Amino acid sequence: MSVLVYTESEQGKFKKTALEVASYAKAVANQLGTTVTAVAINTNDTSVLGNHGVDKVLNVSNSQLDTFNAKTYADVLKQAAEKESAKVVIVSSSADSKYLAPLLAVGLNAGFASNVVEAPSSTSPFTVKRTAFTNKAFSITTINTDVKLVAVSNNSFGLIESNGNASAEGFSPSVPESGVNVQSVDKATDKVTIADAEIVVSAGRGLKGPENWGMIEELADVLGAATACSKPVSDLGWRPHSEHVGQTGKPVAANLYIAIGISGAIQHLAGINASKVKVVINTDAEAPFFKAADYGVVGDAFEVVPQLIEKLKAFKAQQ
Ligand SMILES: Cc1cc2nc3c(=O)[nH]c(=O)nc-3n(C[C@H](O)[C@H](O)[C@H](O)COP(=O)(O)OP(=O)(O)OC[C@H]3O[C@@H](n4cnc5c(N)ncnc54)[C@H](O)[C@@H]3O)c2cc1C
Repeated sequence: MSVLVYTESEQGKFKKTALEVASYAKAVANQLGTTVTAVAINTNDTSVLGNHGVDKVLNVSNSQLDTFNAKTYADVLKQAAEKESAKVVIVSSSADSKYLAPLLAVGLNAGFASNVVEAPSSTSPFTVKRTAFTNKAFSITTINTDVKLVAVSNNSFGLIESNGNASAEGFSPSVPESGVNVQSVDKATDKVTIADAEIVVSAGRGLKGPENWGMIEELADVLGAATACSKPVSDLGWRPHSEHVGQTGKPVAANLYIAIGISGAIQHLAGINASKVKVVINTDAEAPFFKAADYGVVGDAFEVVPQLIEKLKAFKAQQ
């Protein structure tokens, strides 16, 4: 009856969201007086999971699962949940988990709460707090089904480290034929993706043209950040669509979001509301983004950004 958590990995390495959902699962398990079992697919380094609250890892090793397929993965997780008689199943809010969660909920006949931002306020009835209307409101939701499926909002709960040890157990579920075979995956970039990034450096039409993105990439490099942009920037072809952030683009839940030459239209803000600290650099002191910012610099990006890069480089050199 342990709490089951799906810990996502990429190229054998657990994603940050995996450690966050493991931490969340531990909080739920503590409330229920039970343990945490993680499902890890095609990765072996389980020690890091033990350090984030996991007691047991079901290691699935199967080349048919090398590329993500929502139906197949949901089926694997369903089998794991049934094997563990799990009553609470936790997943992240990654793009992959958003595809698989509804299928898993149907498979387990589970009530499903998405966008959950806090540990349950009660486990009987099972009550969680969720964001609604692109993070503009909260909803308090109870799940009344026997099995409960919870998707934790990225960056909402944080990582909680412990000194635990996770035992590892091989798990060989039957892997159904999905009917869809991914032949190859061409990633848009080998750099850190917007969804997984702790820091995002984003720029808008204030940059005037694609030829000026060198300083944005340099700032991102210094900070170990992902680069992003506003919608018009990707519409104009200045940057790839994979970088477009907002209501019609990707959501960003970074620890630090730096917006340079972006006005802060409501459709852009809808995508970055879940980010923790927002820094805005804009020439116009009346730009709406300043109302959403934690720190703001009223200034010309072409003057501010090179100075910021210089200062950060000097700071890093001293470390
Ligand atoms: C249905 C719908 C969906 C949409 N979805 C999205 C979405 O998902 N994401 C999104 O981003 N937009 C979206 N939009 C578009 C949105 O409404 C805005 O038009 C867009 O976000 C503006 O982009 P921007 O801030 O880069 O450009 P602008 O609005 O042109 O703003 C540029 C900013 O740069 C500043 N600036 C100019 N020069 C400098 C300088 N040298 N240094 C510093 N600052 C400078 C200006 O003061 C200004 O604030 C959507 C619109 C609609 C209608």
